[in-house]
Amino acid sequence: MKNQRQKFNQMIRAAETICVLGHVNPDGDCIGSTLGVYNYIKAIDPSKKVGVYHDNPSEKFDYLNGFDSIIHDNAVEKSYDLCVICDCAEKGRIPQKYHKYLDNAKETFLIDHHMTNEGFCENAVIIPDISSTAEVLFDLIDEELFNVEIAKCIYTGIIHDTGVFKYNSTTERTMQIAGKCMSYGFDFGKIIDDSFFAMNLLQKKLLGYVLGKIESAADGQIVYAKLTNKEMKEYGITDKKYLDGFIDNIRTTSGAVCGMFFYQMPDGNYKGSLRSSTDKVNVAAIAKEFKGGGHLRASGCTVEGNIEEGIAKILAMVEDQLRNE
Ligand code: 5GP
Ligand code: MN
Repeated sequence: MKNQRQKFNQMIRAAETICVLGHVNPDGDCIGSTLGVYNYIKAIDPSKKVGVYHDNPSEKFDYLNGFDSIIHDNAVEKSYDLCVICDCAEKGRIPQKYHKYLDNAKETFLIDHHMTNEGFCENAVIIPDISSTAEVLFDLIDEELFNVEIAKCIYTGIIHDTGVFKYNSTTERTMQIAGKCMSYGFDFGKIIDDSFFAMNLLQKKLLGYVLGKIESAADGQIVYAKLTNKEMKEYGITDKKYLDGFIDNIRTTSGAVCGMFFYQMPDGNYKGSLRSSTDKVNVAAIAKEFKGGGHLRASGCTVEGNIEEGIAKILAMVEDQLRNE
């Protein structure tokens, strides 16, 4: 890690213009790690030109410094000296319109923690067992330049990818890093409430509706729910970024070891969020069958074609894994 830290720091210092990219539908770890990189670069040298690109990031992360400068569309710089990519298991997870910044960059550096990541950049730090990309980033940062803005970003990434310190990827080291972040003095309870748990009234009502539709299989070991575009619209929800947290509510049904949430996207296909609370069920393997990916216990994929058939296929795969334990 020491060599990688040196390399990362050298590359930032050598670059005048830097772009930072993450994955589609950026979650807390993706926003936290990309803005963590942004704040770190600014701590190294405020005069460096940094462009962080995300489509449609949730405004619940607007307490992070740099959120207001996120670029949604056209580039300020046509090409960058350095492109840093965070939390992306594969190039295809970066929104297509931002690929040109990766392709045209003189240097590239990938920071990630997905076990399915085969590395698609010249320089890559991928540590699959670590809780979050934010935690990987922490080890790349020069401690002397660490500050409260970076701390809030790292803390946000960690709480989102550990379900607030409860997934089994949470280690003693994760807690030490979170503790180090907290020592910079910010309202961590508010960050947890506002960015992780809070939902507006429309979201709460839609969540209630979705929970009312939960179905189960394998004697309650599997729970799942499906949501159509039409239903979303009826509840006044127009964007899937407002469905954050739904899968956790589904997953935490007593007796269930696997939770799944299938929600329709504008193109009519369904996105599946798959979660497992046991190593017996490897949802990454299932997601991969559908050209998705992620972690052993938290993965996602797109289900194309008939959704009922897709769900039936996935249920059969989970049941198979449960039988072969
Ligand atoms: P979520 O269900 O919250 O969207 O995603 C859970 C995990 O699976 C995240 O680590 C996310 O990066 C990964 N993931 C979600 N959807 C996809 C996908 O379509 N492809 C890949 N490779 N990973 C995904
Ligand atoms: Mn992540």
